[in-house]
Amino acid sequence: MASEEQKEATIIDGKAIAQTIRNEIASEVLLLSQKYGKVPGLAVVIVGNRKDSQSYVNMKRKACCELGIRSYDIDLPEEVSEEEVVKKVHELNDDPDVHGILVQLPLPKHINEEKVLTEISIEKDVDGFHPLNIGKLAMKGREPLFQPCTPKGCVELLTRSGVSIRGKKAVVVGRSNIVGLPVALLLLKADATVTVVHSHTRDSESIIRSADIIIAAAGQPMMIKGDWIKPGAAVIDVGTNAIDDPSRKSGYRLVGDVDFQEVKKVAGLLTPVPGGVGPMTVAMLLKNTLDGAKRKIEQ
Ligand code: NDP
Repeated sequence: MASEEQKEATIIDGKAIAQTIRNEIASEVLLLSQKYGKVPGLAVVIVGNRKDSQSYVNMKRKACCELGIRSYDIDLPEEVSEEEVVKKVHELNDDPDVHGILVQLPLPKHINEEKVLTEISIEKDVDGFHPLNIGKLAMKGREPLFQPCTPKGCVELLTRSGVSIRGKKAVVVGRSNIVGLPVALLLLKADATVTVVHSHTRDSESIIRSADIIIAAAGQPMMIKGDWIKPGAAVIDVGTNAIDDPSRKSGYRLVGDVDFQEVKKVAGLLTPVPGGVGPMTVAMLLKNTLDGAKRKIEQ
């Protein structure tokens, strides 16, 4: 049982922090347009009509509009060929008004995602998934042109919440190309001592319990329990998992990889799901687009 003096974790308000960042971006976009008569441009490519992809894409396009970023909407039919998608990417690479290119994943099965993503110019790779950008992220003394959005959002949540990373023991749960691996690399760049836990790790609990900073990105609903956490640790929950909930109209609700009710009694800082990392991912995409545009426009 928690001692009487033990306070509950401070809940990090990802929505509010993301809004602050969006306001900062909007001011910079305005300055760019006043000074150079140009605004950042983000091309969002979607293939087919998956409902979840459409809703993510709409959210990103709406966010661009709110901040004064020009959104280029490329909607391709499900049956489009790989060559046509690659051709579109090349056109966008050559378009000087487009500073960022995002290809919404997953692509239909007949299209090779790796091939398409590798064709995006690294100067417009606002998702930060190009192997050259990831490679630079991994190398000492090199800087990628863009850092992947969700990992960058996690680090931004920590720093804007006053958590110093240098010298801390960080444990990342998950090693995917889009979250676990790049967030581990970012924390290493920020001078944390990083351990990565994955599905073959033995005794994950005790490794996680040794961490000052935990980034949970396993996609396992409420896997991380209160007694896996060092008292006072900072916990960033990337997991976004739908579980059945008959009390909801939709029949489901979203939960993280962390058992929120248990962990909030032990951690020092904790992100909620939803309302934690999710809003930061979009904010970081917009920030990357702004940074890509500034590099081009101010050069
Ligand atoms: P993946 O399924 O691609 O990767 C999951 C990772 O977790 C793998 O590396 C896997 O290990 C590891 N893992 C699975 N089970 C366990 C376990 N029991 N113990 C330790 N490690 C485990 O998922 P993503 O990285 O794409 O996403 C992770 C979560 O983050 C999901 O819930 C997703 O919805 C969410 N997400 C949220 C975003 C946001 O903006 N909020 C953005 C992106 C993702 P192994 O490699 O050995 O298989």
